Amino acid sequence: MTERTRCVIVGGGPAGMVAGLLLARAGVEVTVLEKHPDFLRDFRGDTVHPSTLTLLDELGLGEKFNALPHSEVTAAGFPTDDGRMMKLADMTRLKVAHPYIAMVPQWEFLDFLAEQGRTYPAFQLLMQAEVFELIERDARVAGVRAQTPRGPIDVHASLVVGADGRASTVRSLGRLPVDDIGAPIDVLWMRLSKHPGDATTAALGNVRNGHVFVMLDRGDYWQCAYVIPKGGHEELRRAGLDAFRAEIVSVVPFLSDRVGEITSWDQVKLLTVKIDRLPQWHRPGLLCIGDAAHAMSPVGGVGINLAIQDAVAAANILSGPLGRGTPSAADLQAVQRRRELPARVTQRAQVFIQERVLFRTLKGGAPASLPMAVRLLNRFPMLRRIPARLVGLGVRPEHVRTPHARSTMTGNHEEHEGHEV
Ligand SMILES: Cc1cc2nc3c(=O)[nH]c(=O)nc-3n(C[C@H](O)[C@H](O)[C@H](O)COP(=O)(O)OP(=O)(O)OC[C@H]3O[C@@H](n4cnc5c(N)ncnc54)[C@H](O)[C@@H]3O)c2cc1C
Repeated sequence: MTERTRCVIVGGGPAGMVAGLLLARAGVEVTVLEKHPDFLRDFRGDTVHPSTLTLLDELGLGEKFNALPHSEVTAAGFPTDDGRMMKLADMTRLKVAHPYIAMVPQWEFLDFLAEQGRTYPAFQLLMQAEVFELIERDARVAGVRAQTPRGPIDVHASLVVGADGRASTVRSLGRLPVDDIGAPIDVLWMRLSKHPGDATTAALGNVRNGHVFVMLDRGDYWQCAYVIPKGGHEELRRAGLDAFRAEIVSVVPFLSDRVGEITSWDQVKLLTVKIDRLPQWHRPGLLCIGDAAHAMSPVGGVGINLAIQDAVAAANILSGPLGRGTPSAADLQAVQRRRELPARVTQRAQVFIQERVLFRTLKGGAPASLPMAVRLLNRFPMLRRIPARLVGLGVRPEHVRTPHARSTMTGNHEEHEGHEV
């Protein structure tokens, strides 16, 4: 099977789906290839940030999104040993239309984006299409080869966008060198039920006795992340489930009545944390965005936001050149130039927190004396706007600048309304 399109996007995660939606909306023929049969995966975070909520408003999708079942997180903090709550970030201090993080299961958010994409004839999403090879011609990337249940398919395109996440196949097939920054921690991911008497706002983290246990409010259950030193998983398993359950209770005593819900290690998923980035996000015919360009740690819950912001910037910069033909090296470089700084700054903050706070805590060092910054944030409510801004809006927030194609025809030659939202 062979197809031809203007832009092929590998990966139907937040970066790929938003880029696909925006390009199709601008009238650029786009095919998104996703290797899984559905979006039903549990491990990538459920946060839809204020900046993304603003983008949805700009696309006229705010109301529809709001109708999805979701909870709203306005503050983040952590309980201390003496039972107090240290407050770190306060979203309500942001001057935006939606000063909260909407918690929506990621598969529902991706389904929502797919549904919106399908309203544009230029949009095509192929599920169960796993890219395993790049098609190259005259030293350019000219398409991809993917495995599907009906056999292999070749998709030729003017541009291949690698949005296939932190284990990106596209970036390794494209021979793009990677700077590995590393991470001293991994995360164990599990669920525990939520009871009516539990705290109603999500706690960012429980730090006690040299352990870190993060709990995210998912309505009727807690999505829990237990932070361990990198490579510490085997040792934990050897110590047995009883010891593991006891460790959880030692960090969050109120979970003692439900920690028995963990009856097998199969319920505890190991998520390997990594931070890396590409010195160059592109080569002729190929561009990487999102985690494929800069793998993010879960620290701060900001990777989805960054991936979406990359997608918006890529669509803003490339929809014109794609509509006319093939983006130049300068066009692709313009995307990297626009988004590299936010990725670097955010990764630097994540590395700082991983090494200075999380890893030190796991090694028994911190936080007998809490870092000065945490004490200041807790003391002066005004300051809580700063982390709220970093997490909720990110560095250099993007806005939708792509045109909205009026015509319902597919292809790249239709007229555009040409207005910017
Ligand atoms: C444990 C953990 C928790 C996290 N929690 C949060 C959080 O709460 N909030 C937050 O903002 N960020 C969180 N992150 C980070 C966040 O998950 C990523 O930064 C974000 O998902 C990146 O989006 P993306 O679209 O670039 O990549 P991904 O979300 O990884 O999407 C990539 C897509 O490409 C598909 N794919 C891969 N290879 C191929 C192929 N060869 N062919 C076709 N398709 C392919 C994958 O199936 C996937 O759907 C977390 C990360 C981890 C590890």
